[in-house]
Amino acid sequence: MIEFKQVKKQYPNGLLALNEINLQIEQGEFVAIIGLSGAGKSTLIRCINRMHDITDGSLLVDDVEISTLKGKGIRQLRRNIGMIFQSFNLVTRISVIKNVLVSSVPEMPLWRKVLGVFTEEEKKRALMALDRVGILDKAYVRVDQLSGGQQQRVALARTLAQNPKIILADEPVASLDPVTANQVMEDFRQINKELNMTVLINIHHVELALEFANRVIGIRAGEIVYDGRAEDVTDEV
Ligand code: ADP
Ligand code: ADP
Repeated sequence: MIEFKQVKKQYPNGLLALNEINLQIEQGEFVAIIGLSGAGKSTLIRCINRMHDITDGSLLVDDVEISTLKGKGIRQLRRNIGMIFQSFNLVTRISVIKNVLVSSVPEMPLWRKVLGVFTEEEKKRALMALDRVGILDKAYVRVDQLSGGQQQRVALARTLAQNPKIILADEPVASLDPVTANQVMEDFRQINKELNMTVLINIHHVELALEFANRVIGIRAGEIVYDGRAEDVTDEV
């Protein structure tokens, strides 16, 4: 489903953030990428949806070489990939459901967003997504009235409504307290299991990675230094 072959990523300032990454991720896997700050986790994940371009090598998503995709191809790629960030990236002054609705349809015309014109089918899908992450009762509340954990669930619901094949999450629980972080990780686990979506999470909390992911990839200075099942991880990693 996702395949890195000899991938290098060098930033314009010369910094080599990814050095010959070889990696294969199958449909339905739940993978945690661990490593210290600056190791290259964020760069790696952001190459998969073309937020970053690779410098060398090959990167396949669903058997398609994505490094040569242009505008339309990139939009098509991103339709199949849900992205979750540490900082939620929600519109905080509008309701929860509207946040989900405006991004649930690819390239929704601006006038529909502004006027709030949504179909019954779209509303139904949005409510189902909110229900799945346990915040259906918050559908008509403004986002800025929610806790951090609830906001991250809105972001997750928004991604689910898009029905992606892959979810990429860049430090999704880093700004949450430990209890809430656990709950959000549990949401990811359920989505992975029940919807069979491939989930790739950057996380610097090693314990959370080991508890929730099936596979753990350790990176250091742009190189993979560990790749294995969570239960096999020892202190050396
Ligand atoms: P992590 O997600 O593991 O913290 P990053 O992928 O954000 O690591 O960063 C990897 C390395 O690349 C770091 O040394 C970081 O400073 C550097 N880096 C990240 N983004 C840029 C950029 N836009 N330009 C130059 N260097 C960058
Ligand atoms: P995040 O955790 O969201 O990646 P960062 O603080 O690591 O946030 O980076 C914020 C932005 O700055 C990103 O766009 C990243 O690419 C860029 N960046 C990170 N490190 C560097 C760097 N050493 N030089 C230039 N840009 C960088």
